[in-house]
Amino acid sequence: MARYTDAVCRLCRREGQKLFLKGDRCYTDKCSVGRRSYAPGQHGQGRSKVSEYGSQLREKQKARRYYGVLESQFRGYFELASKRKGQTGENLLSILESRLDNVVYRLGFAMSRAEARQLVRHGHFTVNGHKVNIPSYLVKPGEVITLKEKSRDLDKIKSSIETNSFRQPPKWLDLDKNTLTARVVALPAKEDIDLPIEEHLIVELYSK
Ligand code: SF4
Repeated sequence: MARYTDAVCRLCRREGQKLFLKGDRCYTDKCSVGRRSYAPGQHGQGRSKVSEYGSQLREKQKARRYYGVLESQFRGYFELASKRKGQTGENLLSILESRLDNVVYRLGFAMSRAEARQLVRHGHFTVNGHKVNIPSYLVKPGEVITLKEKSRDLDKIKSSIETNSFRQPPKWLDLDKNTLTARVVALPAKEDIDLPIEEHLIVELYSK
């Protein structure tokens, strides 16, 4: 599948905020958002007024970039969200948050969602005892995600677990730090998601 392969820091600068796409570098003063706080490109420093459509578009792009999802897939999530009971915007966030790569990141097994995606693709995790190597797999309440026994000694995973040990997983994931197994307690609700996304703008954009 086609994927964005340019310098990811440009995406943060385009959105004017940290999207935490690069792992530990994002927490240092090497972060480009702090050093060059204007959009990339020739006209980056000249942009000022944003239209209503522009702000809706930016919000959608920001959400897509947080989760590393392509446009067609994002649109598919929106369709799915609109068919679920409740508010479409909140359902959309819940679906994005339920992706297996995001779960692996939230559990602290990876420093970024991109790294988590790679770990899932390489088959380091099981769901209910079965290998799942599809990053977009949507976890459901009651399912159990486990880091495979033989993957626990991988330097990358060990270092992420150590670095992230202070981070508490969200309350919809119950992590057992001894067995490195997590149970999905519930679907993620809006208040469980700490990303500054104004989902109503995305709903307005797609409802035009
Ligand atoms: Fe974004 Fe991280 Fe790059 Fe900073 S270091 S611009 S937060 S990807």
